[in-house]
Amino acid sequence: MAEFTEQLIAWRRAFHQAPECAHTEVETTQRLRKILQDHEINILETPLETGLIAEIGQGDTFIAVRSDIDALPIIEQTGLAYASNNNGVMHACGHDMHMAAILGTAIRLKEREQQLSGCVRFIFQAAEEVSQGADAVVQTGVLDGAKAIIGFHNDPTLPVGTWCAKTGYMTSNVDRFKIDVTGVGAHAAMPQDGVDPHIILSHLMSGLQTIVSRNVAPYDEAVVTIGQVHSGDTWNVIPSRGMIEGTVRTLTPEVCDLIEMRMQQLCEGAAIQYQASVVLDYQRLTDGVNNDDTLQSMAWQVAEETGYEVQVQPRAQMIGEDFASYQQVAPVHFAMIGSNSEYPLHHPQYNPDEAMLDKAPDYFVNFVERLFEQEI
Ligand SMILES: [Zn+2]
Ligand SMILES: [Zn+2]
Repeated sequence: MAEFTEQLIAWRRAFHQAPECAHTEVETTQRLRKILQDHEINILETPLETGLIAEIGQGDTFIAVRSDIDALPIIEQTGLAYASNNNGVMHACGHDMHMAAILGTAIRLKEREQQLSGCVRFIFQAAEEVSQGADAVVQTGVLDGAKAIIGFHNDPTLPVGTWCAKTGYMTSNVDRFKIDVTGVGAHAAMPQDGVDPHIILSHLMSGLQTIVSRNVAPYDEAVVTIGQVHSGDTWNVIPSRGMIEGTVRTLTPEVCDLIEMRMQQLCEGAAIQYQASVVLDYQRLTDGVNNDDTLQSMAWQVAEETGYEVQVQPRAQMIGEDFASYQQVAPVHFAMIGSNSEYPLHHPQYNPDEAMLDKAPDYFVNFVERLFEQEI
């Protein structure tokens, strides 16, 4: 393996060994800063508490390349020599791989800085796993005027050497809902004196499952999943309250609006039917990543030229990715790059193949250079 790749692997392992969860990526940021400064790469002053923005090149045109940097609250079970030293925290989404790949890109582009016909900003973004980091970067204004913002996620379901993307939605809108039900508590033997939240919760649970099956058109994709239900403490008491919490995944604002409206109607209907208080709290957390058409065809060509086996992603994945926030300021492109792991993302034994780091920096270097050459 090339010496440069060996260096990226060493950095990746150092990140892997010292994972930090969202908003606490202090050491990770210091490590990134040190590597970038050792390569004479400029770091911008920003109000970001963790994560950083680095810059190379000159001129008004600028492209941004993004890596996320945070880990997850998972107890690592890989048994690797460089497993997490931070008990209960693990780089189980491969953001350590992302950092190494984008550091490699920055260093490669720095070597040919004089030939670049523009400027490149490298976003090392905190707090992706809680969908807050990308918005924080956008709010600093450092991306205003960017020509394009590009990024990737490693994909353990694809072999190393495979690149996969599509035009339009790559990932879905992610919403979170919570329904609080307040009835009247009573003795279990005297239901006539109470309003039983269990009956209302079970009514809502089956009602919510009719939204996708009966209200959303069969050709529109949507998911309604209840993640938790809580009520009651013991066998002989009717409790006074209960709650349901879950997530909605959609690919268009229209379907999202439809689902929220139907949830609201079901809650209002249940409140009247059972004479209880049923309150819906519906939050829209993250938009779907929506790949620009021109960038997709450009990225496809670049991936082929970089030697990737190119696949077109057949449909959006119903997962969240806060990279979507960047499309507020510029056209975006997001790809999946094969990292071939037996275990999926967010698994305690997740172990991506580091050979991914061989080609990934070349892809981004080539993509940036193409973006400076071509209009979009
Ligand atoms: Zn993740
Ligand atoms: Zn991730």
